[in-house]
Amino acid sequence: MTNVKMVRNVLDKNDRLADDIREMTATSNTVLFNMMGTPGAGKTSLLEALIPELKKDYQIGVIEGDVATANDADRIAALDVAAAQINTDRFGGSCHLGSEMVKPALEELDYQDLDMVIIENIGNLICPAHFDIGANYNIAVLSITEGADKPVKYPLMFRESQLAIINKIDLLQHLNIDIDEMLTGIKDINSKIDILQMSAMNQNDGVELHKWIADKMD
Ligand code: MG
Repeated sequence: MTNVKMVRNVLDKNDRLADDIREMTATSNTVLFNMMGTPGAGKTSLLEALIPELKKDYQIGVIEGDVATANDADRIAALDVAAAQINTDRFGGSCHLGSEMVKPALEELDYQDLDMVIIENIGNLICPAHFDIGANYNIAVLSITEGADKPVKYPLMFRESQLAIINKIDLLQHLNIDIDEMLTGIKDINSKIDILQMSAMNQNDGVELHKWIADKMD
């Protein structure tokens, strides 16, 4: 009973701060994207492909979440956009970002001056989807190599997202994986979700993702 109450208190506090974040970013007209997915799905590589084009039209900031290291923030900062790193080893090695971590990172980035902030959540297909961090849009990323049944096994992230990216699609020809099973699984969980099949390594594929994001900025 005590545990249940404790968990509820943590979630209440998180959700209150998520509301603060929504209010702050609505006032400054900053759109927040929360990119979630497994470790190695290609989230940082997608951002590296996307940002050089996006930054032609928008002031961008990126918040990188990892348990340890600033490797990903360093990769993003090399693209000459504002980047902040959150390491959750300071928060007990948490497997997700929470609003109490995201709020100070937004302030560090001077979010008021930015059109959009993309948050790369901790690599994990489960935990991040349980925590509201005040984002306007959630994006779920997985790679085709992970197997066709992953969405139906871990449905919440797909239920909570407006876009699902199936990355590394160029590897499909080498795999014994039924892409239709994966697509049907995602749509069964969330019939409204948009789905992009792409490879972060293929520049042409990035055009569709750019369009999806730009559409949300109108
Ligand atoms: Mg990463």
